[in-house]
Amino acid sequence: RSNAEKFEFQAEVSRLMDIIINSLYSNKDIFLRELISNASDALDKIRFLSLTDKEVLGEGDTAKLEIQIKLDKEKKILSLRDRGIGMTKEDLIKNLGTIAKSGTSAFVEKMQSSGDLNLIGQFGVGFYSVYLVADYVEVISKHNDDKQYVWESKADGAFAISEDTWNEPLGRGTEIRLHLRDEAQEYLEEGKLKELVKKYSEFINFPIYIWATKEVDVEVPADEDESSDEEETSDSTSDEGEDEDTEKSEDDGTEKKPKTKKVKETSNEWELLNDVKAIWLRSPKEVTEEEYTKFYQSLVKDFGDEKPLAWSHFTAEGDVEFKAVLFVPPKAPHDLYESYYNSNKANLKLYVRRVFISDEFDELIPKYLNFLKGLVDSDTLPLNVSREMLQAHSSLKTIKKKLIRKALDMIRKIAEEDPDESSGKDEKEVEKSGTDDDEKKGQYAKFWNEFGKSIKLGIIEDATNRNRLAKLLRFESTKSDGKLTSLDQYISRMRAGQKDIFYITGTSKEQLEKSPFLERLKKKNYEVIFFTDPVDEYLMQYLMDYDGKQFQNVSKEGLKIGKDSKNKELKESFKELTKWWKGALTSENVDDVKISNRLDNTPCVVVTSKFGWSANMERIMQSQTL
Ligand code: ADP
Ligand code: MG
Repeated sequence: RSNAEKFEFQAEVSRLMDIIINSLYSNKDIFLRELISNASDALDKIRFLSLTDKEVLGEGDTAKLEIQIKLDKEKKILSLRDRGIGMTKEDLIKNLGTIAKSGTSAFVEKMQSSGDLNLIGQFGVGFYSVYLVADYVEVISKHNDDKQYVWESKADGAFAISEDTWNEPLGRGTEIRLHLRDEAQEYLEEGKLKELVKKYSEFINFPIYIWATKEVDVEVPADEDESSDEEETSDSTSDEGEDEDTEKSEDDGTEKKPKTKKVKETSNEWELLNDVKAIWLRSPKEVTEEEYTKFYQSLVKDFGDEKPLAWSHFTAEGDVEFKAVLFVPPKAPHDLYESYYNSNKANLKLYVRRVFISDEFDELIPKYLNFLKGLVDSDTLPLNVSREMLQAHSSLKTIKKKLIRKALDMIRKIAEEDPDESSGKDEKEVEKSGTDDDEKKGQYAKFWNEFGKSIKLGIIEDATNRNRLAKLLRFESTKSDGKLTSLDQYISRMRAGQKDIFYITGTSKEQLEKSPFLERLKKKNYEVIFFTDPVDEYLMQYLMDYDGKQFQNVSKEGLKIGKDSKNKELKESFKELTKWWKGALTSENVDDVKISNRLDNTPCVVVTSKFGWSANMERIMQSQTL
């Protein structure tokens, strides 16, 4: 083409394409999922813009927010068109080739080790999956701010862009034409495409049509000669329907059969393939577990066999109305806490009256719950305002409050339904929990291992929900026997007369178990909690009490273990020694020397003052672990 401008793919992108082209990955179907997902994103974008400026939608067909699929068997082309936002020339250059997304090299690496392409969408390079089935791809696109352009590439390291002067004008949006490889001809079969679209469009909120071929019986006047020769074939169908030169036979209206015959004719029409009723609008009772799982997978673009740990689907009524579906993922992303304080990456999608608004609303959920996935669809929020105004809308506070409650309820239920969690509970209660025990077994420990730190950060940050969060806390202790235990369970095991909840902090359980601070407590059968995460030191500065009981760090001054009548006597008889000792040490680094009943075999220990940092905290501060 004379007006074509040539570009080279960015090196990583080029490598990615090579790998895709040569991939032996058998599930090639996924390209369609990626294309539908991109079309849906593009439609979401134009719909969002149209909220504040109706004009952007255009008129007539251009304004229809839909996706269309066509098959051209002769030319071996599969095309998918959307009336989404489209791409300007610059967008085409940047988005489809010259700017590598951050996930590109990560995905290349992953593919080289596993060969699994299924997660391509998660890495932000889904588009290139078209080269699983095509050796030549054209992307025709029209954005409101630019002319219509064609992007084309044979995946040979380069692509070309030309102003489109030959195709039909799109109005607005994008048409992707896949020139299918010889071994991918199955994607020209209507049946196959329909099946795939149904599979991949389950949670797409725009109608998807296919240009379907219909065979219809039509009655046409029978050919005189034929019908008189072989009467019985006149009713049977034949493929010769296009014979338009047959003479019209005059029917004289008597007992003769009408001289017509039925033939099959093909015609085309747009056939709708999906049901656009969003899952969150349905009643939770009607939605199956499998549907929730699939919905979760489509939300996070993870199409493995990962099931969410838990979900909550509810409708909030009252001043602020909204529907929401929340999920606890099975695993924490590797960087969940790395960027905790400087990233605002929320994972909830916000919709207003079915219209997708944003998935970057950090006002929706507090940071410590950023690991949740899901969506919120509100009828109360205004539609025709900017993102900034929406972000400041007063309803958002109410939504946030309710989301936190529901999220914490959902997490509490993981524990309640987990048979491993019920060791402190009534036997009968445990039995009741029923048949799916096996599936729920160990789920809370799994949750805790992945997201426990988030709960701790919640206790630090969210004073309003501190108590609810403290209920979710798990730890090991001198009596937990290598398992996790809770504050409620600790309290149920407290000795008569025990007022405080005892804990000790350090780097590991093994180290703490040997600590002289525990000697006497152990001997007297008191339980002591082990806190071994650096964040625990901060946690305990915020968690002062629970269920009316104070927390007592056993390595700090002021430890009272029950009543000890001998204490006074001892103090008296060792008065001289302590006095001498104090005199010898205070000038150095010691505040005081006291008689204590906390030890058993060890003659003496250094403790830290009640209001100062614990030794462990000193260590943490020195190494700046957090
Ligand atoms: P992702 O969808 O995760 O961003 P893709 O590789 O699927 O990654 O797509 C790359 C980019 O190309 C998209 O972010 C978008 O900007 C652009 N794009 C792809 N398909 C379309 C489309 N149908 N309409 C508009 N833009 C598109
Ligand atoms: Mg995509």
